[in-house]
Amino acid sequence: MDIPFLTIDSVREGLLARSFSAAELAAEMLRLAEAANAATNAYLHFSPDRALAAARLVDEKIAHGEELGPLAGVPVAIKDVIVTKDVRTTCGSRLLADYTPPYDATAVTRLEAAGAVIIGKTNCDEFAMGSSNENSAFGPVRNPVAPDRVPGGSSGGSAAAVAQGTAVAALGSDTGGSIRQPASFCGVVGVTPTYGRVSRYGLTAFASSLDHIGPLARTVKDSATVLGVIAGRDPCDSTSADAPVPDYPSLLDGKVKGLKLGLPREYLKDLTSETGELIFRAIDVLKSLGCEVREISLPATDYAVACYYIIATAEASSNLARYDGVRYTSRAAGSETLADMYRSTRGEGFGAECKRRIMLGTYVLSAGYYDAYYLKAQKVRALVARDFARAFSEVDAVVTPVSPFPAFKLGEKVNDPLAMYLSDIYTITGDLAGIPCMSVPCGRTAEGLPVGMQLLTRHFDETTMFRLADAFEKAAAR
Ligand code: GLN
Repeated sequence: MDIPFLTIDSVREGLLARSFSAAELAAEMLRLAEAANAATNAYLHFSPDRALAAARLVDEKIAHGEELGPLAGVPVAIKDVIVTKDVRTTCGSRLLADYTPPYDATAVTRLEAAGAVIIGKTNCDEFAMGSSNENSAFGPVRNPVAPDRVPGGSSGGSAAAVAQGTAVAALGSDTGGSIRQPASFCGVVGVTPTYGRVSRYGLTAFASSLDHIGPLARTVKDSATVLGVIAGRDPCDSTSADAPVPDYPSLLDGKVKGLKLGLPREYLKDLTSETGELIFRAIDVLKSLGCEVREISLPATDYAVACYYIIATAEASSNLARYDGVRYTSRAAGSETLADMYRSTRGEGFGAECKRRIMLGTYVLSAGYYDAYYLKAQKVRALVARDFARAFSEVDAVVTPVSPFPAFKLGEKVNDPLAMYLSDIYTITGDLAGIPCMSVPCGRTAEGLPVGMQLLTRHFDETTMFRLADAFEKAAAR
């Protein structure tokens, strides 16, 4: 079996043709993943017992001729901010280094119910805060395509696991770009669904009004299949939407002729780099498929980074208050008073980026500054959403780059938080508006670094996004 290139369909074919059993595939995938980890550090821990138990269930079903779920035997990896029962979940933080959750996230339950085999938990920026995976307390991830470069963040481990072929698909989380940007840097597909499309029950909260769970995979079809499995109303998450979930993979019919695509002036005006060339070439491919392209304007874009880093840090400062040394996990030793205990536990436990965000967030929420920053940012957020609503009255999808540049070198931006924040310019607007958006690979630079194109559509219209991405993927492969 050619493991690094397996897709959901090829796993199924192999299982049904008895070319391999699910247990054999799981064991071999675990072996490869552990071996690759020395080079990339994509995984924080493996879950061999759980994987083999799930695989054996699939093998029994095959032996008894029972119907198989859509992900039967498919090896998947889970970002370590998503809880897994009895499997350590650290969120990339020293504070949770020994935390073993007593329950599964709904997305995880749904994956396993569909037959997926969870092989391990992937490395990420601490509490999903970062754009390079260098904020993990357990060391950075290296980009499998170029080991001296970052894989992107914060779902860098999930993107690397899929890119290096040690998982057919993975779950990531996205608050401001953490699925799409690493997908783009590692050359895989990454999907941020509509806000509320996928239950966040069991996703460790970073910024609750922006957090999403979504899939990463090597093909558009695989990402569509995984989203179909995890999407849908969940009684455990009151913010999950009660909207019907289309059968996404069956709707990839190539019918994109006549679709209207908007190219936002504000995103493309300064794009002269190799990234720009690849995006414009991809737009030409979409045109050759019969899509109509027109320029649109998203004027609030200039304020989006500032708006995001106020709202996200405000919510983070509140969400991270629960790591107090009383609940969940480690407590600093030797404190005399309660305040001392909080101070030393949090002081020792959080990394620099989390501390920066807690301070920023506390500041923008403080009585004296709430109106000037937090309230203002909420108003700007409404403008960003209105920009998209206006655009979608004219076009069916918006096309942009995912990142202004391809994967950068490890260490290049880690000491310059502002440069790191600014690199999120193209991804955070989609999160602020709550619309579905994805990264689909659209070529490589002369140096061989992958570049992703971003597609954004109306709320709950993942179908058009997938249809477009799939048609593009097939045309680009020709
Ligand atoms: N890079 C952004 C941040 O650091 C986005 C992170 C995310 O989407 N989780 O906040």
